[in-house]
Amino acid sequence: MGAFKEPHGGELKNLYLDEAAAQSEKAKARDLPSWDLTMRQLCDIELLLNGAFSPLDGFLGEQDYRAVVSDMRLASGVLWPMPITLDVTSAFAEKLREGDRIALRDPEGVLIATMEISSVFRPDKELEARSVFGTTDDKHPGVSHLRHRSNEVYLGGRLRGVESPVHYDFKHLRDTPQELRDRFQKLAWRRVVAFQTRNPMHRAHQELTFRAAKDVEANLLLHPVVGMTKPGDVDHFTRVRCYEHLLGHYPEQTTSLSLLPLAMRMGGPREAVWHAIIRKNYGCTHFIVGRDHAGPGVGSDGKPFYGPYDAQRLMQQFESELDITMVPFKNMVYVEEKAQYFPEDEIDKSTKTLDISGTELRRRLRDGVDIPEWFSFPEVVAELRRTHPPRHRQGFTVFFTGLSGSGKSTVANALMVKLMEMGGRPVTLLDGDLVRKHLSSELGFSKEHRDLNIQRIGYVASEITKNGGIAICAPIAPYAATRDDRAARRLHGDPRRNTARSVRGA
Ligand code: ADP
Repeated sequence: MGAFKEPHGGELKNLYLDEAAAQSEKAKARDLPSWDLTMRQLCDIELLLNGAFSPLDGFLGEQDYRAVVSDMRLASGVLWPMPITLDVTSAFAEKLREGDRIALRDPEGVLIATMEISSVFRPDKELEARSVFGTTDDKHPGVSHLRHRSNEVYLGGRLRGVESPVHYDFKHLRDTPQELRDRFQKLAWRRVVAFQTRNPMHRAHQELTFRAAKDVEANLLLHPVVGMTKPGDVDHFTRVRCYEHLLGHYPEQTTSLSLLPLAMRMGGPREAVWHAIIRKNYGCTHFIVGRDHAGPGVGSDGKPFYGPYDAQRLMQQFESELDITMVPFKNMVYVEEKAQYFPEDEIDKSTKTLDISGTELRRRLRDGVDIPEWFSFPEVVAELRRTHPPRHRQGFTVFFTGLSGSGKSTVANALMVKLMEMGGRPVTLLDGDLVRKHLSSELGFSKEHRDLNIQRIGYVASEITKNGGIAICAPIAPYAATRDDRAARRLHGDPRRNTARSVRGA
């Protein structure tokens, strides 16, 4: 293990203006060009403003960006592995010059910060993907975001913070770096080992964190990411309830839980170094890096993007520059005959081990099959089951298509009645006529309008399904030929005319 490190006292940025200055900044910002921050940008700006991304004092300008992409360093030479950039549309960037100021707002229009622009540039996204993620494969979520969701122009500049992005959930578990540093100081926690996670924690993870804390004689910070993680992950609401249950399984006064509103990039090794720097800023002295840290899974060729211990290797490479010590772990496996978890390198190759993969866990949740106690705590499993009920308790949508008069409505009605006879879940029939009347009365039967109609039905059905109900959709001949259009109109009347009539009050 590395040398003893004091809880981090290094410089912590705080980019927020004081109350009076923030008020006057707000007034001035009314006349500034305004950018609505995306979800990702909102996460980034929160951690820029509160110092979690120290030493950054704003979104990266071109010089820093290039150095970070190619060398994992800022132009000053300081280690920083992840480009933190403000991507905007060409149309927005067109009017802007260096030295201009812009207002950055949340989706509700609340002013979060202003930025003095020091750099306007177009990134080479292919180069960024290759250098940062080691691939241009769209199956990598970081690459996919960069290529398909990120805007084409980057703006760099210093930030002046006006208001912290608002969170209504789990307020008692959200801390700024300064708040966590202060808490560690108050508790006299001189050594703190942080655990990063974007998944529900099971026994393997608890054992890993136990061992880490014991090995380096440190207190433990569970520091899960609740900003943006890998698409398809368990939502953070469920996870946080799981972490809260788990907290009861640690000896009292040894372990703390705090939420990190980070937008992960799933960048494996580079991301691990970034995670470590962030935890140093939150006052931690040690950081756990296990198997496949921040790994995005497999690429289009079926091979993993990164090796299971690449992240540990990169961390080692920068060990002397990182003001936080890595606690590396090999894959944790369950040894049945000892009824205990062990890191793979501490057991014999011939020892029989047990494991339940993420895919297998999802299957067991879906099918309502037993999840053994050696794998997870009953309270954690119960929490996961609440969010992932078995198939027979989930909502679903049945979508009928067919020409007018083909019998959709008859079948749909019969199905609805049979499902209601079975009971257990609410059933809604989104019949063509009802939809046309209540959702789409202004639409006609052009292809464009029919697409719009289907989209609306799909949206309503997805909401019903999400909330555990059954949606049966039977819209009128969605893609019928022109002749059928006329037939449909004869049968159901022309909704455009009907609308016009109802508007006129006829
Ligand atoms: P991520 O690394 O993407 O945040 P996880 O939440 O799965 O995803 O992992 C959190 C941390 O725990 C990482 O450092 C990871 O390497 C480690 N880890 C997870 N499962 C195991 C395991 N079975 N053995 C060793 N390390 C693990």
